[in-house]
Amino acid sequence: MVDPIIIDGSKGEGGGQVVRSSLALSMVTGRPVTIDRVRAGRAKPGLKRQHLTALRAAQEICQATVTGDTIGSSSFTFHPGEVVPGNYHFAIGTAGSATLVLQAILPPLLIAKRPSRLILEGGTHNPWAPPFDFLQRSYLALVNRMGPRVSATLERAGFYPAGGGRFIVEIEPAKRTESLTHSPDAPGDLGLSSFHMLERGEIRSRIGRVLLCNLPDHIADRELEELARLAQWEPDCLFRERTKAHGPGNAVVIEVAGEHVTEVFIGIGEQGTKAEVVAQRAFEEMRDYLVADVPIGPHLADQLLLPMALSAWQTDTPDHRRQGSFRTMRLTEHSKTHIAVLQAFLNTSIVIEEEERGESFIVKIQGEAAASN
Ligand code: AMP
Repeated sequence: MVDPIIIDGSKGEGGGQVVRSSLALSMVTGRPVTIDRVRAGRAKPGLKRQHLTALRAAQEICQATVTGDTIGSSSFTFHPGEVVPGNYHFAIGTAGSATLVLQAILPPLLIAKRPSRLILEGGTHNPWAPPFDFLQRSYLALVNRMGPRVSATLERAGFYPAGGGRFIVEIEPAKRTESLTHSPDAPGDLGLSSFHMLERGEIRSRIGRVLLCNLPDHIADRELEELARLAQWEPDCLFRERTKAHGPGNAVVIEVAGEHVTEVFIGIGEQGTKAEVVAQRAFEEMRDYLVADVPIGPHLADQLLLPMALSAWQTDTPDHRRQGSFRTMRLTEHSKTHIAVLQAFLNTSIVIEEEERGESFIVKIQGEAAASN
């Protein structure tokens, strides 16, 4: 039996992404993984329900053998089997983020042999997690440019504390010429095309949307007024949406659609935070992104690294080194931690080059397998 890759979950940012990406990469490469000191960098370390749901979801789609899979566990081992695409339903049972559960299982399903349909239940608009709108308009839109066809449809929003959000994800994998060999160093062709994104292009639209559910209208009024004041936007780019959800919920969603990429910024309403502050949070993220004048914001950078590393890792021709690149803002500690996890599994080089023009950086990802042949 192959020895597991050992990941120290306390390294770098020490968050849940180490867990989710390790699960995804273990399934993709067929290599078992042991994660020690799980989320040691967080106030409440160990596996929370959201991470455990991701672990169980990963276990279900590949019939993995797992040890240490309990709430609060600080160490677990995951021995993957063959990934079986198909219809699955995963419910967190709390308001924990369902978009984060998707992070763990989407990569292997993107390169599977058949399509999948997932029903995911839990939080859809959580702090510190990809909001559904970002997933749909920003992240999946770019993943689709690498070859797969993935769509996400929101049936019901889920906010803390009630949860109960629900969305459907349909995945048609990238077309490839040979099957995944499960050899960690020679995966062959996974059908993923190279991805380069150096320019955002002209801005085509900016809109602000307030999502509101089971809360008084004045919250949306104040958030829209604050956005109009800060961004100097006319009323025709400001919208309000009464969403369906099991409990109260509120979010301010800003979408900036450039010629080549759409970015989404969010402020999540929470008890004790003034509506104006919720609007300011979304606005400030957008402002930083626009000032940096890059196509890829910090969260997109974080999340694109994985599918791009998969694309670079392919070994479809022996002398072909796949490449990918994007321009972004200063990489977060979170992204740097993610890079270390990717490199523990995939034979790829990921370098960050600072540009002279200021606070912008180019991330270059290149496959190494071919080079070592
Ligand atoms: P972790 O904190 O390690 O559990 O990871 C959180 C994940 O959520 C990372 O993939 C982040 O990129 C992502 N994330 C957090 N906040 C946002 C946001 N506002 N928009 C998009 N993605 C986010």
